[in-house]
Amino acid sequence: MKTCATCQTSYPATKKYFQPSKRNKDGFAYVCKSCVKIYMKQYYHDNKERMKAYARQYDLDNQGRRRQYYQNCKNKKFSQLINRRLASS
Ligand SMILES: [Zn+2]
Repeated sequence: MKTCATCQTSYPATKKYFQPSKRNKDGFAYVCKSCVKIYMKQYYHDNKERMKAYARQYDLDNQGRRRQYYQNCKNKKFSQLINRRLASS
């Protein structure tokens, strides 16, 4: 059994009740899943604008990375494979 650090409820130390965490000795987070859910909801509510901005920024960053990835492909052998596949579809 493992006691949640937030609600002080004891649950079996399994993936069903606790999120796996490599940082902890027993391999599970200190806080039970239902408390994490409440916390995340509250966190999102408190940081709505920041989260939205972050998601927007993440999209922009990944767009650039995706473009770069395809540009790198041009110089590689397997880009021919992709082109052939695109041409045939
Ligand atoms: Zn809890």
